[in-house]
Amino acid sequence: MAGHECNGDCSHCAHAAEENAESPACLVRKNLARVKNSVVVMSGKGGVGKSTVAANLAAALSLAGCKVGLLDVDVHGPSIVEMLGLRGKPLMATEDGRIRPVDAAGVAVMSAGLAVSDPDAAVVWRGPMKIGVIQQFLSQVDWGPLDWLVVDVPPGTGDEPLTTCQLLPDPLGAVVVTTPQRVAAADVSRSLAFCDQLAFPVLGIVENMSGFVCPHCGKRVEVFSTGGADALAEKYDVPVLGRIPLDPRVCASGDAGVPFMASAADTPVGEAFAAIVEKLQKAADERA
Ligand code: ADP
Repeated sequence: MAGHECNGDCSHCAHAAEENAESPACLVRKNLARVKNSVVVMSGKGGVGKSTVAANLAAALSLAGCKVGLLDVDVHGPSIVEMLGLRGKPLMATEDGRIRPVDAAGVAVMSAGLAVSDPDAAVVWRGPMKIGVIQQFLSQVDWGPLDWLVVDVPPGTGDEPLTTCQLLPDPLGAVVVTTPQRVAAADVSRSLAFCDQLAFPVLGIVENMSGFVCPHCGKRVEVFSTGGADALAEKYDVPVLGRIPLDPRVCASGDAGVPFMASAADTPVGEAFAAIVEKLQKAADERA
């Protein structure tokens, strides 16, 4: 399916006959025809701040004046709902029977956590169910016209990242999140190898929890050992998009359900996200 433009009108599409127009890939392409750039935020392992980066990246893009959607396909641990204070928000249907995303300060959000009745219950789903839900999110959510669709996939290289990367039409690429220590490199290495195998473009690496600036004395402390992101960037010939420092306010904001970016423009974390946004916009401009 990849490689041809879709204007959403299958009746004039030369590919519709050769590729079943009702196939998931075709339905997704049609539904996302008005999405300019899609980015998948992935990581090799959990706990590195992937969802935090996805939520704040979406907020930062929105603050930069873009129309942004954020899709959380982490079926087993959908933390975006909590991080954006969306728990209990009901899902509504559009007039044409599609699903309307939920608004979080201007960002259109859809999450597996919004689709289950009890967000605290364990979701025990096998691959085919997860694949079906992701297909639905991509083909039946009314995203409308978007400058950016940011997709938060669970850590690793399982069904969810695979389905997402295979279905997203003309993606701008992956943002791979890691932490600075070299032991994180092996896990991230697998994410980069996964992208290589799928021929999925990689925009670069974000090093999260990268140092800590003491709020009392202003001195920077490297909490973890350093060099992990640089070593990977060199090995896979991809850029380091940015380094986001540890800041207790990032954690507090996530717990309070507000992205830190909403009030953080002049902090080192805010500046790091703004710099990443600039690089993503440059990549989008170069492709356009
Ligand atoms: P993942 O999606 O990789 O599992 P999360 O985004 O859920 O990780 O982050 C794990 C925890 O770390 C959360 O409590 C989050 O608020 C916190 N966190 C993430 N990045 C930072 C940071 N730069 N500074 C402080 N806390 C952070």
